[in-house]
Amino acid sequence: MRALLLDGQVSFRPDYPVPTASRDDVLVRVSMAGICETDLQLVRGYMGYAGVLGHEFVGGAESGPYAGRRVVGEINCACGTCALCHRDLPTHCANRTVIGILRHDGAFADYLVVPQRNLHLVPDSIPDEIAVFTEPVAAAFQILAQVPVTGRDRVIVLGDGRLGNLCAQVLAGVTPHLLVVGKHREKLSLLEARGLRATLLDDAPADRSADVVVDCTGSETGLPTALALVRPRGPIVLKTTVAGTQTLAWAPFVIDEITLVGSRCGPFDRALAALDRGEVDVRPLIQERLPLERGVEALELAKQRLKVLLEVSGR
Ligand SMILES: [Zn+2]
Ligand SMILES: [Zn+2]
Repeated sequence: MRALLLDGQVSFRPDYPVPTASRDDVLVRVSMAGICETDLQLVRGYMGYAGVLGHEFVGGAESGPYAGRRVVGEINCACGTCALCHRDLPTHCANRTVIGILRHDGAFADYLVVPQRNLHLVPDSIPDEIAVFTEPVAAAFQILAQVPVTGRDRVIVLGDGRLGNLCAQVLAGVTPHLLVVGKHREKLSLLEARGLRATLLDDAPADRSADVVVDCTGSETGLPTALALVRPRGPIVLKTTVAGTQTLAWAPFVIDEITLVGSRCGPFDRALAALDRGEVDVRPLIQERLPLERGVEALELAKQRLKVLLEVSGR
């Protein structure tokens, strides 16, 4: 099969072996896949991953109870038997593999293997180019699963990129007092076109009035910026993963009693419902669609563009 392989560097392979599905797994034929910041970080060495890239996908199940139907898949593959799995924390399973990220070949390929329990059926009303956003939209909804946000809360989303846009749309469904702070005029205007308030970083309110700040910058500058915007006792939700280490003065966290909430993968059912109802509009994010063969070029493009989609099988 065709695959986009990361092995120190990324290359397109026309004859990579088709993965074999074991007992609880399903072979999924990929129709479309999305490139996200994590993929770009992996290429830079984050997680030391080697294998087929790709964790945002929609495809057709080839076996199991969903055979012949369109599916999306959660990316954490849990063992089901460790202490964390028993505590109902499968996304934190000590023995997990993560599709396209940790010891599990991903979706930038004709086929991938996904545990049956990770799969969700895609309603016919959601086309592939929308369904492929389920994973990042679920990650945006995870914020609400972790931090109580009400309609009175002033929320700032830092970052106007792919994930910042999705998090902003999700949070705008909860509070009218939402502000997106970014560095790119054209990306901010996409949000303004949807009726959200957005501003350049230089014009952000410096009065530490935000009840919640969400860092989606993908940059080591995100956390210190968030700290300068959040009110005392306000939570900072960290969506950014940066390869490498960063230094920071921690005393302000103590003095202002700041809660730091790391936030990763989220509820697929909620994301599919939001995409189906149009609560989140992902179409403006799609800036490029390239065939899998041009995957190396697509990864390069994704450094500048919002969403770059890989068309794998085409229907
Ligand atoms: Zn992603
Ligand atoms: Zn486990």
